[in-house]
Amino acid sequence: MNALGVHLARRIAREGPLSIADYMGEALVHPGLGYYMSGDPLGRGGDFITAPEISQVFGELIGLWCAVTWTGMGAPDPVRLVELGPGRGTLISDALRAAAGVPGFARALDPYLVEISPGLRAAQSDKLAQAPVRPPVRPPVRPPIRPPVRPPIRPQWVDHFAEVAEGPLLLIANEFFDALPIRQLVRTNEGWSERLIGMDPEGGGGLAYLLSAPGALAEALVPARLRGAEPGETVEIRPAAEALIGAISEAIATFGGAALIIDYGPAESAPGDSFQAVRDHRYCHPLADPGEADLTAHVDFQALAGIAGRAGLGVFGPLEQGAFLQTLGIGARTERLSAGASEETARALRGASNRLIAPAEMGSLFKVLALVHRDQPVPAGFEKMGG
Ligand code: SAH
Repeated sequence: MNALGVHLARRIAREGPLSIADYMGEALVHPGLGYYMSGDPLGRGGDFITAPEISQVFGELIGLWCAVTWTGMGAPDPVRLVELGPGRGTLISDALRAAAGVPGFARALDPYLVEISPGLRAAQSDKLAQAPVRPPVRPPVRPPIRPPVRPPIRPQWVDHFAEVAEGPLLLIANEFFDALPIRQLVRTNEGWSERLIGMDPEGGGGLAYLLSAPGALAEALVPARLRGAEPGETVEIRPAAEALIGAISEAIATFGGAALIIDYGPAESAPGDSFQAVRDHRYCHPLADPGEADLTAHVDFQALAGIAGRAGLGVFGPLEQGAFLQTLGIGARTERLSAGASEETARALRGASNRLIAPAEMGSLFKVLALVHRDQPVPAGFEKMGG
């Protein structure tokens, strides 16, 4: 058993079985031993690869989306640009580069990166230092010898969204919500139980799943729309994601702004066990070697949209990622980049874009949800208000 496993075994001996949320919290963000807290989880060969790492076009289109949304907000200055879980900083640096040409936008930005991992904070800082944002190119009287370069954008790093200063808000999150802790409730023949994690009574004394005694406590946690699950089915709830969306929605309702949430999960809530672990690009058992694999669960877009809607926001989507990127012009942007590139690079660019939009790849499983202040226009890429 690894060091985090020993720590968890002691905690279980002391406190009794853990919820899956307790376990995810420890395995992902335990100081020193959690997956995101030790080194660079996205660096060492990469356990998984995300959309901004596949193609620069992803971050560029999101940057332009932010700039257009900002214009629709009445171009507030300052505006908080918040990215939740920026990973290696690729999305934000591609986004800022692409959006720098929109007059006034770069100057108005007060960027915040919500990031808990020290290793990834360092990677984000390096990435942004490499990518100075140029001011918009205006027709010069005489062509300058070198284009003037603005000092690199200096974001503030915070651990939690609650630390972001109040004000008009543009928020982006790609594959962040899937890392937030979930709880699992299981419909048994005797009623609802919670799936917990304790010590395996047999075998080598490792961690093992168990079920709480069925009862009203677990049943009370099941959302009404999922109470009809069949015996044997699992229902997931996401208290941290819901609280966070509540706080974001309140900020947007009060100060104006928008949030763009991209992640994987179904458009409509459904029973199912989506808790998974990935290590070295392979699925593994979520309880094996805690802290050494990435743990995620599907995002419940219907639940998030419901909370934002009740807070009075305009809710757009969820749309499939493929459709969203195509509406924003991924095809044209890819061709534009390919035109100036070698045949090999052009092939790679087209292949990367295809991976983002093809239904069999990331195009359908990944969804995009936009939450917007009621007085603002329909956000780019969406047609009309949804649920
Ligand atoms: N958005 C990036 C990275 C996704 S991985 C991309 O698309 O490539 C998830 C990111 O969220 C990582 O940067 C991770 O360190 C961060 N993260 C995970 N849980 C967090 C938490 N509870 N608080 C703050 N950041 C967290």
